[in-house]
Amino acid sequence: MEFSSRARQKHVRLAGDRRELYPHSLQFYLEPPTESISLVEFESFAIDRLKLLKVVENLGVSYVRSGDPYKTKLEAELRKLKFPYRALAEGDYEARRKDHISHFILRLAYCQSEDLRRWFLQQEMDLFRYRFSQLTEGLMQKFLEYANLSFEAISEDLKNELANDLCASTPGFTPLKVKEQMFYKVGLADAVDLFRARRVFIKDGFAYVPFKEIDAIVLSNYRTKLSKALALTARSLPSIQSDERLQPLLNHLSHCYVGPDYSVQKNTGKISLEQIDALSMKSFPLCMRQLHKALRDSHHLRHGGRMQYGLFLKGIGLTLEQALEFWKKEFIRGKVDADKFDKGYAYSIRHSYGKEGRRTDYTPYSCMKIIMSNPPSQGDYHGCPFRHSDPELLKQKLQSYKIPPSGITQILELVKGMHYQLACQKYFELTHDVDDVGFSLNHPNQYFTESQRLLNGGRELKKELSNSGNPQQKNNSQEGMNSNLTPMSSNTTTDPELEGLEEYFTED
Ligand code: SF4
Repeated sequence: MEFSSRARQKHVRLAGDRRELYPHSLQFYLEPPTESISLVEFESFAIDRLKLLKVVENLGVSYVRSGDPYKTKLEAELRKLKFPYRALAEGDYEARRKDHISHFILRLAYCQSEDLRRWFLQQEMDLFRYRFSQLTEGLMQKFLEYANLSFEAISEDLKNELANDLCASTPGFTPLKVKEQMFYKVGLADAVDLFRARRVFIKDGFAYVPFKEIDAIVLSNYRTKLSKALALTARSLPSIQSDERLQPLLNHLSHCYVGPDYSVQKNTGKISLEQIDALSMKSFPLCMRQLHKALRDSHHLRHGGRMQYGLFLKGIGLTLEQALEFWKKEFIRGKVDADKFDKGYAYSIRHSYGKEGRRTDYTPYSCMKIIMSNPPSQGDYHGCPFRHSDPELLKQKLQSYKIPPSGITQILELVKGMHYQLACQKYFELTHDVDDVGFSLNHPNQYFTESQRLLNGGRELKKELSNSGNPQQKNNSQEGMNSNLTPMSSNTTTDPELEGLEEYFTED
């Protein structure tokens, strides 16, 4: 795949119409795209697929995968994002092209670590399972041929001859059902899972698989191919990392969340420092509640914690002046004296507000960034408790926050399945006494905003007059922030930008 410069294009397709590349709506993604695409299209395809995979993840935990609500919601999302869906199954070239290219872009972004690979594989498998199940019998047959899985359907004569064995060895089958269904003769290597689960009749090194079980074979084949492909892609990373246009984009995507931009602080100056303790208990997600408590207890946070919590507080509306006052008051209660604070820490806080150094307006961290990068070590309080805490400690913490035992079990189950953001959503539901959060959690500041909206009956944060800084300063600071927004549409700060900030936060 090649990329044209951002300046030349806007969603212009550069390779013409190559319909023959996509004979089927469903793909095994065996061949990478070879056409040139613009960076704008590259980014928008990738973001849309990421949105889709996030929905797949959410739906997979909230609904039974074979149920109608799951299917209806997933189809609606596919339609909305213009990926192939049932009604378009046999006709939409643009949707198939987008499906193909976006899969390969995320494959590049998500091959970079074991965690990322696992997440990507799981969501792609679920997406594939749904789309395969939506094909008609005729299209399934066509797909099997296209994917070189053309298993031989056995003749009626052979089926009659084997009828008793097929009926006895295939769970849930009656003689009538055997008569109605097509059976395929499949090599044992392709039917290992069914063989192990004793779900098929075996004879002379072949499994006789009913049509309704073919999806298990196709899925296992797809899983094997995709995990190998991810491992191979990971090996080719060094060559990709040398491409200065691609690397920031890919890093960006793997830490990316798709949601509102929390670098624009609508609430700047609307909370007072006195409110923070109460807010931390009512409206902070667990990661920030933990950081706030650690800060209050030990009057200090190490640099990972200061960055994660400081930018979150900025995102909920603390002005620079409030941030300086907040951190100083706390730190001087510990081992840091006022002079040391002013010389070292104050600079870094001004820096994070874009008032020093490169004057970059730093964006609060998204969940993906917190979950995927910079894991906490001993003595650190940053990170995501659902991802980084020992399950037993997490359980104790949830108990101390009066989460009911059944809720704790549900949260721990989600954590076990590595659905950390969904575990956090469950925590939100339990602490706010709602059945369904009604949003897909991507960002700690989104958690805060949604919590406040719910607690205030849909109203924005109340204007707080005390400690809100002078209006002139607020206007200036807001202007500064808007003018400093990153040019990317996907709302996260790129890592190279953060490097500058990290330098100033390295002192513990
Ligand atoms: Fe924080 Fe996101 Fe983890 Fe929730 S899921 S605790 S908001 S990082």
